[in-house]
Amino acid sequence: MSGGEREARPSGFRSGFAAVLGRPNVGKSTMVNRLVGEKVSIVSDRAQTTRRRIAGVVSAAEYQLVLLDLPGFQRPFDALTARMQRTVNDALEEVDAALVVLNAAEPFGGGDRFILAAVAASSTPTVIVANKVDLVPAMQLPKVLARARELAPAADVLPVSALTGQNLPAVLKALVAALPEGPRYFPAEESTDQPLELLVGELIREQALRRTREEVPHAIAVEVQSLEERRGRPLLEIEALLVVETESQKGILIGKGGALVKQIGSAARREIEAIVGAHVFLSLRVKVRKHWRRDDAFVERIL
Ligand code: GDP
Ligand code: MG
Repeated sequence: MSGGEREARPSGFRSGFAAVLGRPNVGKSTMVNRLVGEKVSIVSDRAQTTRRRIAGVVSAAEYQLVLLDLPGFQRPFDALTARMQRTVNDALEEVDAALVVLNAAEPFGGGDRFILAAVAASSTPTVIVANKVDLVPAMQLPKVLARARELAPAADVLPVSALTGQNLPAVLKALVAALPEGPRYFPAEESTDQPLELLVGELIREQALRRTREEVPHAIAVEVQSLEERRGRPLLEIEALLVVETESQKGILIGKGGALVKQIGSAARREIEAIVGAHVFLSLRVKVRKHWRRDDAFVERIL
């Protein structure tokens, strides 16, 4: 697994990588952001929001935990989902621990069983959480937890809420306990391994996902074409493309008189400014690229 330079560390320092696994929409990215304390992975209620592996780094005096936010398990049907699936299988081989996220607010299903079986077969130390307990009436919680524990008799299941932060310190503690002694892989102030171009692309995509429905969110990709710091001024100039698959999707994203793309651009600009701490000038255009999801070379470039 790649990392930054190795720094001095106290003896007994623990470090390692934990894969965050779960069906789409259970709250994996929300949990990673909350544990890291910064938005490193975008969140939406649309399926396939997280398309590639994103590392979120939690650094403390005694440990460094690198959380790998992975795309949800899917059946491969095109270049994009095939790539996402590979990412998940590869990750389990390399990690020190796994965090399996279940959604306590919905019935558990085949997807959850599949993931728990994959983890059990890998003999990776595993922490299992039942997330979104803020949505579960207190009366029903014992029953929900009992069902979760039936699915995973060998491990404990922690009731948590990534949204409210409930029980997240216990999750962190359990994951850190599973880490071996090791070096700091990332500088302590770094919260993610993503190059700025990719993070910026993701923040733009998040705003586009929030404002589109049905098949449109799946068809959106963002390509950051240039990202330049103006010398001597705290100003970042960004040129980016919202890429979709059809003319009609392009029309939807542009909106009446350009209203939607403008909204997406200014909301994304505010998010980017908050993260980079500089003014941002964002030029955002919409472009059609037919069947981009089947185009391996394009997928490779944007993910
Ligand atoms: P992922 O697909 O597993 O990465 O899920 P996301 O982190 O993108 O979250 C999916 C949706 O669930 C978003 O709308 C989140 O705001 C919401 N969500 C995540 N965690 C919680 C939680 O603990 N409680 C509630 N009420 N909603 C949550
Ligand atoms: Mg996600």
